[in-house]
Amino acid sequence: MVSLAASLVLSISSAVAADPAALAQTLQMKTALDYAQKIEPEIIREQRRVCEIAAPTFQEEKRGLEFQRIFESLGLKNVRIDAAGNVIGERPGKAAHPNLLIAAHLDTVFPEFVGLKTAQEGNIIKGPGIGDDCRGLAVLIGIVRSLNEARIETAGTLTFTANVGEEGLGDLKGVKHLFNESLKGKIDSFISIDGTGLRITRIGVGSYRYRLAYKGPGGHSFGAFGNANPVHAMGRAIAKISDIDVPDHPKTTFNVGRIGGGTSVNSIAFESWAEVDMRSSDPRSLNALDEKFKSAAHRALNEENARWKDKGKIAVELKMLGNRPAGETPESAPIVKTALAVSKALGFESGVGEGSTDSNYPMSLNIPAITIGGGGRGEGAHSPEESFDITGSWKGTQRAILLAVALVN
Ligand SMILES: [Zn+2]
Repeated sequence: MVSLAASLVLSISSAVAADPAALAQTLQMKTALDYAQKIEPEIIREQRRVCEIAAPTFQEEKRGLEFQRIFESLGLKNVRIDAAGNVIGERPGKAAHPNLLIAAHLDTVFPEFVGLKTAQEGNIIKGPGIGDDCRGLAVLIGIVRSLNEARIETAGTLTFTANVGEEGLGDLKGVKHLFNESLKGKIDSFISIDGTGLRITRIGVGSYRYRLAYKGPGGHSFGAFGNANPVHAMGRAIAKISDIDVPDHPKTTFNVGRIGGGTSVNSIAFESWAEVDMRSSDPRSLNALDEKFKSAAHRALNEENARWKDKGKIAVELKMLGNRPAGETPESAPIVKTALAVSKALGFESGVGEGSTDSNYPMSLNIPAITIGGGGRGEGAHSPEESFDITGSWKGTQRAILLAVALVN
């Protein structure tokens, strides 16, 4: 049965939606865009309020529960928190597909004990996480409120998520769970609103992180001399890793960031360890580097054991600490072209570049994905001194609204 409220809902023809400039001129879209600008002070207040709820990676529950309440109060349907802690809500269109997932991440790099108070001076708001990604979270609210105000019914469906595990050792845990479990097979394209500004990220720089360790019986430096030595093996390994050839384009990098092991100067260590980070925007380059790194680790092991004729033999352990797959949404993909056309329709140009964000994961699955900034201007992300300049920040919300509607019609 069609309810009275539903019959009042306005909708936009797909021909108009395909052209963002024409779409921006429709009465309903103008209403939505004007409203987004009008309510920006309220959206900024929400941005500050949710930002004062601590949400370190792996401890996003409190902020998540608040977003569950917000999603419900906005009238989103089927609001739930999945097993990973992602908050999900739907704004159904005429059909279930295309289904665009719009995400902003709940988590921050700041431990709970970092004071999360925000403060405003003129157009500048200070507070840890205020841009990354409280801005994205606030824009989610701005999108839904503006679409509701203009009573826009989309052809396809918009699914919203305030997701967990984007930062650091979160290792994209939230989006991985969304695409592998809670929304598996349901999502046709993906937008992450992450941080500030108006840039578009279509290349996902991937990274692999490892803890490499050599372990053996150890022993006295004099008495047990002749046992294979884990620290010496690590020296061999690091020398080999240092000599790996990587391409300049696509930029591919490696770094042994931390080393440790041993108990005293006159002991053969029973363990040595190193933490290694490798990155590339090209999955093949990253995987080729990964192979070379593993080969170096094993050759170092074999050489050290052979040197001492397998006396006090050592073993190698490779533990993956992080896996952000690399990926790319081609420049020719409709999601990228539409995003550029949307910026143009709103009177600005957006730079297109690379980054390491939640979009990496859908990109690696060949699901069209981009990350966009939430508007305004941010400084000092990941530092307690982070700040957000609200000048013209409503443009970020407007861009997200126009893009969302254009992509599902
Ligand atoms: Zn972020």
